[in-house]
Parts: sequence; structure tokens; C-alpha cells
Amino acid sequence: MVKKSVTDLAFFGGSKIFSRPVSTSNLVKPDVESFLAKLKIAQTPQGEKYLINQLEKELAEFHGVSYCITVCSGFWALVLCIHELALLGKKEVIMPSLTYRRLADVVAWTGLVPRFCDVNPKKLSISAEAAKHHINSNTALIIGVHPIVNCCDIDSLKVLASENNLPLLFDSVESVYETYNSIRVGGFGAAECFSLHASKLINGFEGGYITTNNPELAAHLKLLRSPSKSQSSFGMQAHLPSAHAAMALQNLEGVKKQIIHNRDIYYTYYKLLSFVPGLTLILFDESEQSSFKNILVKLEDDWPLDRDTTVELMNHEGILSRAYYSPPLHMKPVKYPVVSSSLPVSEESSEHYLLMPCGYQVTSDTVNKVIEFMHFIREYSNDILKLKRRRI
Ligand SMILES: *Cc1c(COP(=O)(O)O)cnc(C)c1O
Repeated sequence: MVKKSVTDLAFFGGSKIFSRPVSTSNLVKPDVESFLAKLKIAQTPQGEKYLINQLEKELAEFHGVSYCITVCSGFWALVLCIHELALLGKKEVIMPSLTYRRLADVVAWTGLVPRFCDVNPKKLSISAEAAKHHINSNTALIIGVHPIVNCCDIDSLKVLASENNLPLLFDSVESVYETYNSIRVGGFGAAECFSLHASKLINGFEGGYITTNNPELAAHLKLLRSPSKSQSSFGMQAHLPSAHAAMALQNLEGVKKQIIHNRDIYYTYYKLLSFVPGLTLILFDESEQSSFKNILVKLEDDWPLDRDTTVELMNHEGILSRAYYSPPLHMKPVKYPVVSSSLPVSEESSEHYLLMPCGYQVTSDTVNKVIEFMHFIREYSNDILKLKRRRI
């Protein structure tokens, strides 16, 4: 460890451990020549269309579904699906509170009202148990959002939705590669939404897609994505640029290699974290397929610093760790209507988890340095807190 005393911490003016920050985003780089070769296809007659069709075909195969509709982002994939699936005349969309920070905005864009439910404390995801208390005569849709490690309990949500005649949409952005009972996500519920943002597993610079086995829904979504001039109904320009499709195709080719890299990183964390009291790695369920991408850690009661101080100290060193889904959405002030209540598991969980650097740019050496740093701040926590108080 290069740091000998607390004054060596970047937080107190010392030099950073990482001059080039290490992040929690995937940021996979493709083989540039192969990417450029794909990009050139866009200049040929019908080339742009070919790239989009090819990506949709390959993603449909990857997820084992009949239809894939690419769009400009995960956000608008969700907006289009909610618009299509929500029951007419009903207003409330049941969704977890401890989730992606823009998910309530997504619902608000459709003119509907987010209704927040709690999460299962073990899986940190929406469950039928948590969602069922929120169903009423005004419920329009349930959004099952997969957490960033493993999947939510799909079967029980399906039962809940069908017993109540409600449509079920999955936000599967964080579970692209995951299987549930050995079946790859993509074909569950009425539709599933994914992102091609550079921070996610499959990098298309930016973009998103929807998977479904329902032909009518697929046809409607295609119309909504790029409405024809004669079409008078609701729609938007939400198609994926062909250069993004070329990038996504290239990175889809390399996804297996990425998983192997991610698994190495995950195991390195697993080994090293077992020697850090107070930090618990959230484990991937290895009885299923998994991307091993996100490294989520719980700060236990015997970790001597609060989560936000821990993140602050790390960020100063160029370790761009982030709080996990904090604040939960029901505690965020917004200017649109929501239905919220006290959600104790979400509130408690939002204080105790933290995302560690991961993805393509991270090496075992990075992990070694990060964990060494965690040992250091744990050992010197009293001095850190004293000096911090004095400096403020
Ligand atoms: C990133 C993310 C989205 C949004 O995807 P974008 O392509 O960035 O718009 C939606 N849901 C979850 C769970 C996400 O992590």
C-alpha cells in the first residue's frame, strides 16, 4: 500500500491511487477494425436496414424469442412498452422503489402514475409478496425489474399478474445474460426491455431493444418506433442509428469473452473480500447462467464507516464506486404524481450497499489495489473520522 498515514488519502490532499479513474461501468472496447468493417456496410444500398435487421435477428436468437425491436435507448424501450401494455383507463403502474433512478420518470412520460412497492430483502428485487399489496381497481401494469445481481422471482410475478388479469413487463437491462430456471431472459411476461448503453453488458454506444413472442405487440412497437408520414396515431422517432447497431453487433460477438473476464474479476473480489471484515460480496447464483458483471457489496454493522463516507473516500482515489440505488425512488422529490408509502426494506437497503469497479477496464491488479484500500480505511477509520471532523 502506497499510503502510510491518513494524510496520504486523496480525500485529505494526498495523491490518488488511480490517476485514470476505475468505474462501475462496463465500457467494453470492440476490435476496432472489425467494427469499422461492419460500419462500412451502412454505406451500401440497404446497408443501414441490413445492420438493424441483423442485430434484431441475432438478439432474438440470443434471447430465444420470436421478435426483437431495437430502439434508441433502454429508457424509450420501456416508455413504448408501457404505453402499449398498460390497461386502458387504468392509471397505476406497480414498480419497485429500490431500482434504476429514472424508472419512475419513464412511467411519468407515459402519463401514468408510478406506484412504488418494496423489495425482497434477500434478492433486493420486486417480488409478488411485495407487489400484491398494491394491486387495486386502478392498476394498469406491473413492472418486474431484475436486480443487478441475479434475477427477480419471475414465476411468482407471473402468477400474481395472471390471477389479477394484469399485464407484466420486465425491465431486464441488468440481466441480459442471465437464465431463470435455465431459460435465458427475454421471453418472460408480455415483453422485456434491454439497454445497449456503453455502461451495460452489450455496448452499442447507446441504444435499447425489446423482446417479445407476441406478433401483434411486435408490429405495434415497430410502428410506434418510426411512424410513417401518413400515420396519425401516437408515435415517436425512436429508432436505433445504424452505427450503433454495428457497434452492438461487434460487441455481441465478444460477449462470451467478456463473461470469462467478468468471472475472473468476480472471483478475485470473492477471494480478497473474504479477508475484509464488515464487507460482504453479494453472490451470483451459479446454478444459473450469469454475466458476473456487477460487483455489489454489503456494508455490515461491523464496517466502521458509513456508506456515504466510504464512497466519498473511494471516489477521491479515482475508485468510482457508487451507492446502490440510493435514495430509493419513493423518497425522491418529483414534480409528477406518484403513489408512495413507507417501504422499510428499500429504505434500509439503500443505506448499506455499494457497487465496486467492474467491467472490461478492470483487471485483477485493480481489484487488488481497491481491496488493499478498503483494508486501509477500515484500519484507520477512527483517525479518518477525527481528521474529517477537524477539517470541516
Ligand atoms: C440503465 C438502465 C435503464 C435505462 O437504459 P438506457 O439505455 O440507459 O436508457 C433501465 N433500467 C435499468 C434497470 C437500467 O439499469
